[in-house]
Amino acid sequence: KPGCEPRATKVLFGRYELGRLLGCGAFAKVYHARNLSTGQSVAIKVISKPRVMRSGLASNLRREILALRRLRHPHVVRLHEVLASRTRIFFVMDLARGGELFSLVSRCHRLPEPVARLLFHQLISALSFCHSRGVFHRDLKPENLLLADDSTTQPFLKISDFGLSACLAPSTPNPLLSTICGTPAYVAPEVLSRNPYSGAAVDLWSCGVILFVLTAGFLPFNDPNLMNLYRKIRRGEVRFPRWASPDLRRLISRLLDTNPQTRITLDGVLTDPWFRIDLDEQKLTA
Ligand code: ADP
Ligand code: MG
Repeated sequence: KPGCEPRATKVLFGRYELGRLLGCGAFAKVYHARNLSTGQSVAIKVISKPRVMRSGLASNLRREILALRRLRHPHVVRLHEVLASRTRIFFVMDLARGGELFSLVSRCHRLPEPVARLLFHQLISALSFCHSRGVFHRDLKPENLLLADDSTTQPFLKISDFGLSACLAPSTPNPLLSTICGTPAYVAPEVLSRNPYSGAAVDLWSCGVILFVLTAGFLPFNDPNLMNLYRKIRRGEVRFPRWASPDLRRLISRLLDTNPQTRITLDGVLTDPWFRIDLDEQKLTA
């Protein structure tokens, strides 16, 4: 009886009932969906296949995806499975119910340092976990930082797209690509200069931009003119808002070191005074 009844819902592969659109990226659309056998809510990222194929990395994709599926961390959006039709690839993943972190920041104008520190601890713990397994994000930016729920005082970060940018984007760094995708404001200077770069150092630079935005409420490097923006990033000069504490300023400056060789590493962050504040206090009260 095909065509007799209007289809109210769309079911993918007999397994997932597709719901509303959650968001659009440069290459993908993300939908709310429900796993019909478990009732679990998930997010499904739909990517049109030809685009992935054109990037010439289709053969790597399967191997990369296997690695990503093993990447389990509370602050990393978990990839449940990957499905494919003739024209599309579907990434089934954890649903982040709280939406994008930066809508929280814009709602609050800026976050108090203790809340920003909590989020930064979560970000660094996810990064340490993934980096130690040889997976780098390379595309840390607001759209990829999601929240598990709506709490504003106890936010729970979920990083999305871990490792995906590496297997979906061309392997040669192309700063213009990030322009097409959105803002290059989070891109490290060595990527802009097309110098060889390490995924670890690039991720740490982005963490510096993120920490600045969380606590200041605006971008450290910003300019409507792309060339001016690139120049500002390469110079790496940051003007801190007056409310930023000295310890916070020092950590951000160490993250936004334009020289990737001297830029702070994850180990450095773990012993940084601003990073340690609550951790050391917890230890004293424990
Ligand atoms: P792209 O990689 O093409 O930029 P994204 O993965 O960033 O696409 O997804 C686009 C948008 O969809 C995000 O900015 C976010 O708002 C939403 N989104 C992505 N993943 C999830 C998820 N797991 N849970 C909830 N919303 C999501
Ligand atoms: Mg993304």
